[in-house]
Amino acid sequence: MNNKKIILFGGTFDPVHLGHTTVAKAAIEYIEADRIIFIPAKCSPLKSALPRASDIDRLEMLTLAIEDEDKYEVSDYEISKPTPSFTLDTARYFNSIYGKEYALYWLVGADSIDDLIYWHRITELIDECNVAMMYRAEYERPDFEKYKSVWGLGRVDKLQKNIIPTPLVNISSTEVRRTLSSGGDVIQMLDNKVLSYIKEHKLYGI
Ligand code: ATP
Repeated sequence: MNNKKIILFGGTFDPVHLGHTTVAKAAIEYIEADRIIFIPAKCSPLKSALPRASDIDRLEMLTLAIEDEDKYEVSDYEISKPTPSFTLDTARYFNSIYGKEYALYWLVGADSIDDLIYWHRITELIDECNVAMMYRAEYERPDFEKYKSVWGLGRVDKLQKNIIPTPLVNISSTEVRRTLSSGGDVIQMLDNKVLSYIKEHKLYGI
């Protein structure tokens, strides 16, 4: 077993908010990880009623949000590909680079528990790395019991052992976008540098 640990944190980060950075910090401490890599997903800016930011803007905002943290980095692995990636492929890529030295953890918020079943080759992802589910405000505490008959006892046991009791921060990117586009105040939801970037580049309909 590897003693060193690396966390992969995928998401749209549209934009990255204080919920993301708070749970990332808690996950690092809980897992005792050496590093965390934020991996923004490639996605279409057209897929929402609310204005979205481009891939490059999301990457830039993440870079600003984490620049003072030693253990944090941002990867453009998914964004630089021509099409959206499956999590399994991204996990395999990072395992091929770090797997000899580090145990890999893939962070997910508890809002995703019912979607996991639809993830591409989810059982292979559970086998490939440690899928680590975090608490999220307004969602039930994660419990994988109901998946025992689908994924098997061993996998469910692994998922249950990797649940991370992160602090509950009731912020979402949807709420940030909604508040910005209606002229509201998001100062409590975002890093200052991210907010300045949004204003400077007139993102999210402001
Ligand atoms: P949206 O509102 O656009 O769906 P989001 O706030 O959920 O966005 P994502 O970029 O989709 O942000 O989230 C990336 C990952 O971080 C997901 O696994 C999500 O569950 C988790 N996450 C986001 N915000 C929080 C939060 N406040 N607490 C715990 N987990 C969170």
